[in-house]
Amino acid sequence: SPRASAQDASDRIKVSFEFFPPKNGDMESQLWDSITRLASFQPDFVSVTYGAGGSTKQPTMNTITRMCRETALAPAAHLTCVGSDKASVDAVAREFQAVGVNHFVALRGDPPEGVGAAYQPHPQGYANGAELVAGLRAIADFEVSVSAYPERHPESPDFATDIDMLKRKVDAGATRAITQFFFDNDTYERYVERVRRAGIYVPIVPGILPIHNFGQVARFSKLCGASIPDWLARRFDGLEKDPETRSLVAAAMAAEQVNDLVERGIDDFHFYTMNRAQLVYAICHMLGLRGAEAVGAAA
Ligand code: FAD
Repeated sequence: SPRASAQDASDRIKVSFEFFPPKNGDMESQLWDSITRLASFQPDFVSVTYGAGGSTKQPTMNTITRMCRETALAPAAHLTCVGSDKASVDAVAREFQAVGVNHFVALRGDPPEGVGAAYQPHPQGYANGAELVAGLRAIADFEVSVSAYPERHPESPDFATDIDMLKRKVDAGATRAITQFFFDNDTYERYVERVRRAGIYVPIVPGILPIHNFGQVARFSKLCGASIPDWLARRFDGLEKDPETRSLVAAAMAAEQVNDLVERGIDDFHFYTMNRAQLVYAICHMLGLRGAEAVGAAA
């Protein structure tokens, strides 16, 4: 049964968690409460996003530094190359390396005008994700993860162009791709088949977005080329003023999505936590993972 198969898979299931750097003190305590709670699942790694153009360089650095000093977590720093010359991007990578980072999530980033605006590489910069991966690998033997788009990146005219960029990133030394969020597992499965047919064999780790705020996710989906299936919109329909039910629905839906992926043979998941632990904690628990508290209680 699906339930039993999720339970059987719990030994081999790997998870990673993504956070964004806090903008103020309140957000910082929320972030650290979440990191502490989710750390008990012993994630493969935890990543911290990086504002395009370096807008969050210091907060990202502070968060990563604290992770290195105060936790046993393996941090991955996101790094973007939009709007910067190569020397500055390399210098930031070396700063991260100096505080203990050996893993980067290498991204091109979006133009300052926002997602969808025409992308102009910096004249002395890395032009895309693939060039950034090569640049990072030239600095040190870093582990490098990159992005993948099950529904195509909005700038890609077709899947062939999109998958060609993924291939270039892997050829440049990336060893893992993390997907943009998606809600239809068939879409993901078809994409992975296409990727394999293109001779790309690195893990394509599904990026799971528990829906904390449906309106926000719907707006963001339009920009980044992810689609919201009608059935999904329908599930949140009418719950605008009922946050408690909304979060129950969101947890149930993400668990349903993840369990279905487990049945399809997937055992590695990347969670977009939005710096909140609750939903992701519940989903990981349903996947059969146990946090330190639960393990302690059972002993
Ligand atoms: P690339 O891999 O370089 O290219 C993306 C796609 O664009 C390719 O598939 C390619 O086909 C197409 N493309 C590129 N150039 C051309 C061209 N000249 N002609 C035709 N098609 C082209 N953004 C942040 O600012 N900070 C973050 O921390 C961050 N983290 C992310 C984490 C994940 C897992 C994902 C999926 C995205 C993240 N992003 C982040 C968003 C990302 O920066 C944007 O999606 C950006 O638009 C593309 O960056 P990329 O590295 O995917 O680009």
